[in-house]
Amino acid sequence: MMNIIFLGPPGVGKGTIAAMTSEKFKIPHISTGDLLRESRKNQTALGKEAEKYMDAGELVPDKLIINLIKERFKEPDCKDGFLLDGFPRTMDQAVMLEEVVPIDHVFDFYASEDTLMERLTGRRTCRNCNHVFNIYTAKPKKEGVCDLCGGELYERADQKPEVVRNRLHVYKQVTKPLENYYESIIHLIEAEASPTEIFAKVVSILE
Ligand code: AMP
Repeated sequence: MMNIIFLGPPGVGKGTIAAMTSEKFKIPHISTGDLLRESRKNQTALGKEAEKYMDAGELVPDKLIINLIKERFKEPDCKDGFLLDGFPRTMDQAVMLEEVVPIDHVFDFYASEDTLMERLTGRRTCRNCNHVFNIYTAKPKKEGVCDLCGGELYERADQKPEVVRNRLHVYKQVTKPLENYYESIIHLIEAEASPTEIFAKVVSILE
């Protein structure tokens, strides 16, 4: 049983490392951002409600997120553990989580503001499989096309510079304080290096 949280600002590369970790340790990668984008794509009630917050770089209200994650936990693949990416992001979410399951490890990724800006504004996401490329640091082989599935790459609305700045601001104000909450189980991970090197650090801690 391995219940893991990946904490860290937008653009730090959590999603990439989470995908690698999920594959290696055979636990589901649960990204509330991906679940919300999926809901938007399918134009569910939740998706429609979440849109305006996401495009402004604001957090979606706790009540909606908590329902979303509770539903996800009911799926059978969560019984041997999970990796949460982008959840919890507020104190109320963390408290709710603690009521439902124990957490074993929290990885807290950090990088400079310049690195975060470059990673966020260079990001291109596959419409089909959600894989993330970066036009500066992790280019797709063919411009605009996903290497993995051939899907179309797009630039998310929340990657505009002013929205990015707001997301970083919201992170500092609302999410970063969770570092104190998880103090006893937190691993600080410097995330300026390549994904392979960062992943190696995570693996060495988990093994
Ligand atoms: P992400 O891909 O994790 O950066 O998430 C994209 C957007 O979805 C965020 O900017 C928020 O608007 C929303 N979101 C994702 N996860 C959460 C969460 N745990 N709480 C509130 N809003 C969230």
